[in-house]
This record gives sequence, structure tokens and C-alpha cells, in this order.
Amino acid sequence: MSIQGICLCGKVKVELDHEPETFTICHCDSCRRFSGGVAMSFHRGADLEFDPEQVGRFTLEDSPWSERGFCKTCGTNLFYRLKKSNDYFLYLGLFGDQIHPRFDSQEYIDHKPDFYHFAEETKTTTEAEGQERLKAYLTRS
Ligand SMILES: [Zn+2]
Ligand SMILES: [Zn+2]
Repeated sequence: MSIQGICLCGKVKVELDHEPETFTICHCDSCRRFSGGVAMSFHRGADLEFDPEQVGRFTLEDSPWSERGFCKTCGTNLFYRLKKSNDYFLYLGLFGDQIHPRFDSQEYIDHKPDFYHFAEETKTTTEAEGQERLKAYLTRS
């Protein structure tokens, strides 16, 4: 069974061969800005390719280890990628109602605005904990 994700204009498509089990929300300022609100994504792994004609990528100055991708035509946010391991995290919205992952964790919980709250019980990670994990990732060979 293959599940097809699609951007708003239909020019970017991405295939999954199985449903993701879990997803994560990142409450950091960059993810909130990029997503336009709440950034929900799941880990897809490294074996993905996108047409550079159709998919734009950019790297923020304060996080050179990662990049973000979007559709050049309609602007739909597609992914966050960790460069060193080529790990892609795809945004949930691409897949509509085709996937039903469990809400597993919230990153940068100390950056979540206090004007909304999620009802699900999830794991949480603070900015400091996230930075520790990132440091371990970047120094791992
Ligand atoms: Zn598009
Ligand atoms: Zn983030």
C-alpha cells in the first residue's frame, strides 16, 4: 500500500509505503513561523528525493545543521531535514486524512505560547534538553 502526500498546488508529491506511527510538534520560534502556527511532523528517514526544479530549500543562519523545504509554486511547507544524517521530517498536512499517527511528543515545550494547550498526554522536551540531544547528534561520528 502506498500513501501519497501532496502540496496545495499538486506539483510536489511524496510517497510513503507505510503510515507513520507517531508525530511530534515543535514549539520553537522558527518552526512556528515556518508552519504559520503549529508545526506537526513525523520522521520519514533518508531515502527521499525531491525535484530541485519544484522544491526550494533554505538553511537558517542559526541552525546550519538543518534545512527546510517548500513548494516553489504554492509555498506549501514540506519538510525539515537534518543534513548530517539526511533525515527528513515531513509535515503532517501533506497527507490529509490518510494517516493517523499518535501524538507522541512536544519539543521546545518551554517556548509554547500560553494561549493554547493540547489535550493529549505527550512526552515533552525543553530547549535545553533539545540542545543537549543536538550536540550529541552533531558530535556522533
Ligand atoms: Zn505546490
Ligand atoms: Zn522547531
